[in-house]
Amino acid sequence: MILKTLKSYFGYTQFRPQQEEIVKNVLSKNDTLVLMPTGGGKSICYQLPTLLMEGTAIVVSPLISLMKDQVEALQANGIIARSMNSTNTETENATLRYECMQGRVKLLYISPERLQIEMNFLLRDIKISLFAIDEAHCISQWGHDFRPEYTQLKTIRQQFPHVPIIALTATADKITRQDIVNQLAMRNPRIFLSSFDRPNLSLEVKKGYQQKDKIRTICKLIERHRGESGIIYCMSRKGTEKVAQLLADQGYHAAIYHAGLSNLEREQAQDDFIKDRVQIVCATIAFGMGIDKSNVRWVVHYNLPKSIESFYQEIGRAGRDGLPSETILFYSFADIIQLSKFASESNQQEINMEKLNRMQQYAESDICRRRILLNYFGEMMDHDCNNCDVCHNPPQRFDGSIIVQKALSAIVRTNQQISTHTLIDILRGTFSPEVISKNFDKIKTFGAGHDIPGRDWQNYLLQMLNLGYFEIAYNENNHLKMTEAGKKILFGEMKAPLVVIKQEDFTRTKTTSRGRKSQMERPHTISIPTVYENENDQLFEALRVLRKKLADQQAIPAYIVLSDKTLHQLATDRPKTLEALYDINGFSTYKVEKYGKDFIREIKKYS
Ligand code: ADP
Ligand code: ZN
Repeated sequence: MILKTLKSYFGYTQFRPQQEEIVKNVLSKNDTLVLMPTGGGKSICYQLPTLLMEGTAIVVSPLISLMKDQVEALQANGIIARSMNSTNTETENATLRYECMQGRVKLLYISPERLQIEMNFLLRDIKISLFAIDEAHCISQWGHDFRPEYTQLKTIRQQFPHVPIIALTATADKITRQDIVNQLAMRNPRIFLSSFDRPNLSLEVKKGYQQKDKIRTICKLIERHRGESGIIYCMSRKGTEKVAQLLADQGYHAAIYHAGLSNLEREQAQDDFIKDRVQIVCATIAFGMGIDKSNVRWVVHYNLPKSIESFYQEIGRAGRDGLPSETILFYSFADIIQLSKFASESNQQEINMEKLNRMQQYAESDICRRRILLNYFGEMMDHDCNNCDVCHNPPQRFDGSIIVQKALSAIVRTNQQISTHTLIDILRGTFSPEVISKNFDKIKTFGAGHDIPGRDWQNYLLQMLNLGYFEIAYNENNHLKMTEAGKKILFGEMKAPLVVIKQEDFTRTKTTSRGRKSQMERPHTISIPTVYENENDQLFEALRVLRKKLADQQAIPAYIVLSDKTLHQLATDRPKTLEALYDINGFSTYKVEKYGKDFIREIKKYS
């Protein structure tokens, strides 16, 4: 019965791990707490039960854009869903209440503020199947996204003692978890904790890159994913503008998104991205909170994020549909200096510095990066992932003592009064204004490292910093100070195991129309099986065009019509009858009826 509903309403033939048990738990009217990573499939956990129950599910959600997306997706499957928030007019709300009273609405999305206002009406006039609290971590001050309005939700349990509550979040830590249970006054909730692994996301870190190398790398990435969507996260508003400009110089259009824009401009950028009118967005972290776009194929961090939590959440916006997606993190000295400054000026100085340190350790890691991430979230992983740069290319160490000695000697000979920038000038023998004015060209180490390119010096210095050979005095113009460990290397008492730098090949790759293809052309194939071996590429493109046309006609995003995954399956299996369409994952009864003929017609053209 449950499985049948899953297929007919959502078009899926199988549950994802935990979903079925969660649905059953809700159906037996128990309270439930669900912790699943972004893209894990939380929505089904409350959407399906209400279809099998009497009454309306009340879904509390903090973001208007998120509500809109969910409501559109439900309606695209013929399920009656509505949203009530500050954008509604009173007339709309009145109609909505009437519809709810008649029992026609299966899911009502509502903001926490509005819920308080509507409490009386809900109590009196409508039958409620369940309460779903989405983004439930917003209730906790310990979480990273506290919203005071959420604390009001406590009253639900008192006022509706017999209605089951299901709380859902992608934030895993224990304190927040306990806090959610307490604050919502949940009754013996069953807690479902999923793995936070996202095996389809590849992980890659690029160290010490300068602007032009970063841009080159991004251009290559864009070429690998022609016609597909990606996000570039930058540390600052200015950064987003600069990167967008640099990409424009290379002929790529990218939208900008940051807190300095007007609401209208931000909505426009988001809408353009969701509806595939623009493929690339350069954004500050503000972007993406309310985005359910399932086919984001890559995420770049132009700068180091401030914590592993932020990093994981942001890369999590790629590949929600489970298809292979790429993530690249750039990491430089300038980032560390800037982030340390932010951290030391914040009011949780120690915690934030510690979080930054963990982030840095991740970037410098010698072992499988996914192991580090999952370990950070308290999950043990007993094997290497084979989908990160460390697994593909395990770092090789060499005795880098002489390199380290050159750098440390320059630091010492300048009385520890220089920053990395000047240090690299000295090592490379560059007559910069500062070098000349301070007579640094007279010291013995001037030019001692001319054989190593500036980019590689950046890389080595980052390694040295993380090996603890010197520190950055943030309160002293970021000057470098040798440590005790550094002294031991300088005086030859200890060896310095540096990692060999792999030289990047920056020649342009052949362009392909789609990422899936080029993924396979990359030197490292991903361990996730690619199931679309017999796919007709031209047909896929044609189906994509058709999907876009159907989406535009209804002014909804293409991924809500059908997911990329479903299109790939269509282009592989090439079903020619409506019956055969039912076997395709993602085709609900409603979608078969609504779009079936159009897609079959297109498929027949290619047979
Ligand atoms: P979350 O809210 O946990 O981030 P969603 O509920 O938005 O994730 O689901 C992520 C994606 O996975 C969506 O595109 C959704 O349609 C898809 N999905 C969810 N459950 C299943 C399933 N059982 N089979 C196939 N796809 C699923
Ligand atoms: Zn790995």
